Amino acid sequence: MQNSITLLGSTGSIGKQTLDVVRNLSLTVESLSAHSNAQLLADQCREFKPKRACIGEEKYNEFKLLVSDIDIEILCGDEGVEQLASEDESEMLVNAVLGMKGLKPTVNAANKGKKIAFANKETLVAGGKLVTDAVKKGFATLLPVDSEHSAIFQCIQGKNKIKKIWLTGSGGPFFGKDYEFLKTVTPEMAIKHPRWSMGKKISVDSASLMNKGLEFIEAVHLFDVSPDQVEVVIHPQSIVHSLVEFEDNAILAQMGTPDMRVCIQYALTYPERKPSQAESLDLFGQKLEFLNYDRTAFPLLEIAKKSLKTGGNLPAIMNGANEEAVALFLDHKIGFTQMFDLVIDTVESINTVPIIKEPTLDDIIASDKAAREYVRTHI
Ligand code: MG
Repeated sequence: MQNSITLLGSTGSIGKQTLDVVRNLSLTVESLSAHSNAQLLADQCREFKPKRACIGEEKYNEFKLLVSDIDIEILCGDEGVEQLASEDESEMLVNAVLGMKGLKPTVNAANKGKKIAFANKETLVAGGKLVTDAVKKGFATLLPVDSEHSAIFQCIQGKNKIKKIWLTGSGGPFFGKDYEFLKTVTPEMAIKHPRWSMGKKISVDSASLMNKGLEFIEAVHLFDVSPDQVEVVIHPQSIVHSLVEFEDNAILAQMGTPDMRVCIQYALTYPERKPSQAESLDLFGQKLEFLNYDRTAFPLLEIAKKSLKTGGNLPAIMNGANEEAVALFLDHKIGFTQMFDLVIDTVESINTVPIIKEPTLDDIIASDKAAREYVRTHI
């Protein structure tokens, strides 16, 4: 089990739930970072007493004032976050940063040979082989926090030769609806997830099934399997968190109530298990369904699979386009299905953003930027 952690993105949904687990396990927090919620970060600093805290540049002065009476080193901006990721004191980095911004910190921690509990799926989507190579080279360990990947990770302990991964998804709030209906979806409708408590960006991704596309790419990199070995299956009850089929056709599933704190805690206590704050699942009367999804109504999952097939910097381009499109949708600037059109258009307009087969970290960052720019100029 880890004794000291650095937590990036401490004021987001995963960040807050990680601190719940930290309380439960009585761990030491070395450092915390947040993007803009200065007040909550200050409250967390008072409770967990980290040595360092990092806040986004615009909130630096406000945060400094809020913690002026406590002994703490204050850092700011992306550089500060990257510095926290490579500090020597903590044994584990919990990366709960939102989006592409999480890539550099993960690479830094990998170079330092740390254990990295990552909730930041965009890191693996955009970084892909670059991240897994850095992990191997630095003798670091990637521990998944995403519920599906945690489930898969739990199922494969002590076993090898995965035949197939069954990646489950709840289907989001609009499962079973057609494309015509999806045209009318507002941000308010999209952020109400039926099963999981999550942040806004991932809720929109869940509603569009892009989240499953990102998780598909994440699974291929994390478990070193081919795309044909991963099958997405809709499981509306969110009781089975994913399944693994082995050579002998035996399938193992990981089940439980949908509570992210179980996944976070397993990454922090791995390979041990400890009592958690989640409710125990009552199996009596539970009904489990496994369904297929509508590829026409939800095209983003297919685009994610296509991007992975082409590989190189294309998943980073797709991810950048999606992050930008989701932000525009949440801002009421575009509709739900316009989000689909913009991402597909960006991925298919590879003349604007050229494909690089073996991208460097700089190439990935440049591709992400170009994709965002493309989306903004093609609304
Ligand atoms: Mg997930």
